[in-house]
Amino acid sequence: MELSIGWLYPKLMSTYGDRGNVICVQRRCQWRNIGVSIIPLDREADSAQFSKVDIIVGGGAQDRQQEIVMRDLQGAKAAAFRNKIESGTPGVFTCGSPQLLGRYYEPALGQRIEGLGLLDLVSKHPGIEANRCIGNVVFEITATPLAKELQALWDEDPIIIGFENHGGRTYLDSVQPLGKVIVGYGNNGEDKTEGAFYHNAIATYSHGPLLSKNPFITDWLIKTALQIKYQKEINLSKLDDSVAIAGRKAMLQRLELSQLIVTK
Ligand code: GLN
Repeated sequence: MELSIGWLYPKLMSTYGDRGNVICVQRRCQWRNIGVSIIPLDREADSAQFSKVDIIVGGGAQDRQQEIVMRDLQGAKAAAFRNKIESGTPGVFTCGSPQLLGRYYEPALGQRIEGLGLLDLVSKHPGIEANRCIGNVVFEITATPLAKELQALWDEDPIIIGFENHGGRTYLDSVQPLGKVIVGYGNNGEDKTEGAFYHNAIATYSHGPLLSKNPFITDWLIKTALQIKYQKEINLSKLDDSVAIAGRKAMLQRLELSQLIVTK
């Protein structure tokens, strides 16, 4: 079996270390002898490349780079990308990426950037004087059917441990939130929502260590992609996650959330 990971604009959208997410998917495939290739979905890519990927990973960027990306992500490329998301290709989109998947993003300076309108949400930066939302974040995934599917993979409530760093605030309309904030800002620091979930696209403000700290999301992406590609039930072999589990315990202790630690 093999999978292609489409990596959205690696040069323009890797400001915040989100390539860690690409590496996690790649490694967890390789450890199971699943062949994996990485396809950059950037200015040089054409719509055929967008159409052939099995998993999509998109990272964060600065406002200026987001504008350049949106000038490029138009026409046949945008249509191919939209078609992928609408037909259930799994993906993880962080911070600047979901801002572009939404209806629009108003940057700190300059004109509103029109998004793809795939996610029914808007994002607004309150201006360069406003505080950025920075720090560790913990949230529980509540989106359906994702929460149940993750529980089946990990055997406990899907508590996400991450790190956020954004100026923009996101407000959801009809799209369902990814989860509920326990510690941190989440989408806007006001309504306790974090991220969004649409078909199999995970949108979140939690940056590039996301998949290493929460390996069950990585496995959900791989399992979902394989099931779609090979049209059969896939059960992934277990991996040794003891380091990730120890890291999760340490973070929950540091954030005084020991009650969320599950002994495995
Ligand atoms: N430029 C956007 C913001 O500040 C996105 C930042 C990011 O991707 N971390 O909200």
